[in-house]
Amino acid sequence: MTERRVTAAQRRTVIERANGCCEYCQSQARFATQSFAVEHIRPRYVGGKTKLDNLALSCFGCNSHKHTKTSALDPQTGGTVPLFHPRQQHWLQHFTWDESFTQIMGQTATGRATVETLKLNRPELVNLRRVLYAVGEHPP
Ligand SMILES: [Zn+2]
Repeated sequence: MTERRVTAAQRRTVIERANGCCEYCQSQARFATQSFAVEHIRPRYVGGKTKLDNLALSCFGCNSHKHTKTSALDPQTGGTVPLFHPRQQHWLQHFTWDESFTQIMGQTATGRATVETLKLNRPELVNLRRVLYAVGEHPP
């Protein structure tokens, strides 16, 4: 039987697995002012289960922008593509940092759609990355 709510044990596992970083924008929970969520990659309302292979650690901003979306438009081609799936895909295959390590660049249609939809380069994140990079705490 699958529990509907994320258990404390699942939450601990998800946080450890993600090294305390948002699995979308790579923000570190230890430098965040808002708590991180354990989110359902495939939302429960479309049948997503509360199982470890459907859970990801997400910062407040990414979680809010993702909401119940699982696909979005690729801004380059205009095609609808799946959003990044942290359990089935590798971050570095879809994203890279710019030379200043402040901007996330989508490398694939999924990467570009996820950068755009989850707003992975929110101004406050870019500012935080700049400061953390200067003190050697970014990228994680
Ligand atoms: Zn995030």
